[in-house]
Amino acid sequence: MKIFGHSAHRLHEAKLELIPGQLVPTIETADRIDRVLETVTARGLGSLVECGLATRDDLLAIHDPGYLAFLETAWAEWSATNDPKLDGIGFVWPHRNRPPRIPAAFEGKLGYYFFDAVSSITPAVWPAALGAAGAARTAAQHLAATGTSTFALVRPTGHHACHDMGGGTSYLNNTAFAARTLAKGGARVAILDIDAHHGNGTQDIFWQDPDILTVSIHTDPAQDYPYFSGYADETGGGRGEGFNLNIPLPPGTDWQGYSPALQAALQRITDFAPDYLVVALGVDSYVEDPSGKLALKAGDYSRTGQAIAATGLPRMFVFEGGYHHPTLGDCVVRVLEPSV
Ligand SMILES: [Zn+2]
Repeated sequence: MKIFGHSAHRLHEAKLELIPGQLVPTIETADRIDRVLETVTARGLGSLVECGLATRDDLLAIHDPGYLAFLETAWAEWSATNDPKLDGIGFVWPHRNRPPRIPAAFEGKLGYYFFDAVSSITPAVWPAALGAAGAARTAAQHLAATGTSTFALVRPTGHHACHDMGGGTSYLNNTAFAARTLAKGGARVAILDIDAHHGNGTQDIFWQDPDILTVSIHTDPAQDYPYFSGYADETGGGRGEGFNLNIPLPPGTDWQGYSPALQAALQRITDFAPDYLVVALGVDSYVEDPSGKLALKAGDYSRTGQAIAATGLPRMFVFEGGYHHPTLGDCVVRVLEPSV
């Protein structure tokens, strides 16, 4: 299996993120990639290919130009007026029932362009995000050219990044960028997001698109992050109505409850008859993961990988969440192995 990445991610290490009641060291760290790569290498899946950066112009295919311009200069703006030893983190968010406004002050822009306080502006956030997006695109191009499965082993995560805002440690939506790349020329693409948290950004980007089906299995947002997106009644809008499927599950769901959800997701995808499948591969559904609230065990990832491979669809995988370091690589590789 061809595996694609970009080393610029190492330069992006956020210091803190806000969880209820406290600022804590971020769990979305560079060594997550190392843990996965170690296991990928040990199990003989393939070696990592270094890719080129995506550009701002490329990303206009999925993101708002104002948001991209903000991200590109965010560190320079932040560090011009704040202590550069600190990362930029928003602390005020837009009010409901007010007209949308973009404040002139950078602290206000942080609140406008991010929906939470777990996505820090660091000195290298822009090149790191461009590297991840570039690798996801290359993985998509390789799949399109060869028909063989690929894996974009990238961070920062992408699936929480919406059309015009970031959040959840996501800045640019790598999964959506891969899907958009594959859809060039009229191909139909399905996205299956198996991260424990709703792929709210991916849903947002393709909300009105009937040619890219978005399916996400995740913890019920009434009970878990991102709280405001991921409900079963969100089915798409405009021409995209009926082309978004959310399958929320109660916290603590194990394979017994997860398996029928996965079958329903794959049935919807098979019915859509896509040319390509993009899997947003988060493994924070693992029972011991510090971030997710689902209860999958190691063998369940093998079963998931087998079910995905059984669709027979040309497919690729994009790394998303997963924060339990001792098992992170094993869970990822178990999903990938049936597609090698
Ligand atoms: Zn997650």
